[in-house]
Amino acid sequence: MVKIVIVIVSYLKYYLYKLGQTDNATCRLCKGADETETAEHILCTCDAISLKRLLYLGKANLTPEEVVSVASRQVLYFFGSRELP
Ligand SMILES: [Zn+2]
Repeated sequence: MVKIVIVIVSYLKYYLYKLGQTDNATCRLCKGADETETAEHILCTCDAISLKRLLYLGKANLTPEEVVSVASRQVLYFFGSRELP
């Protein structure tokens, strides 16, 4: 579980913004959508990677409650795949 949290936090622009490492937290995948790049956005609703969620997590769009039931291995594969920045 710790590995998953480290992977997610190190990836998300929202946390980089909170640490002062970037000047905004806008999602890098939703070009022009003005969505904040949070864990919930990436794992549940980002339109740019709905196919990727379907392939790795089993559904194109998930609720936060559904993400909890996904195997941690699937989440690691999802974040480790090449399509994410
Ligand atoms: Zn997005």
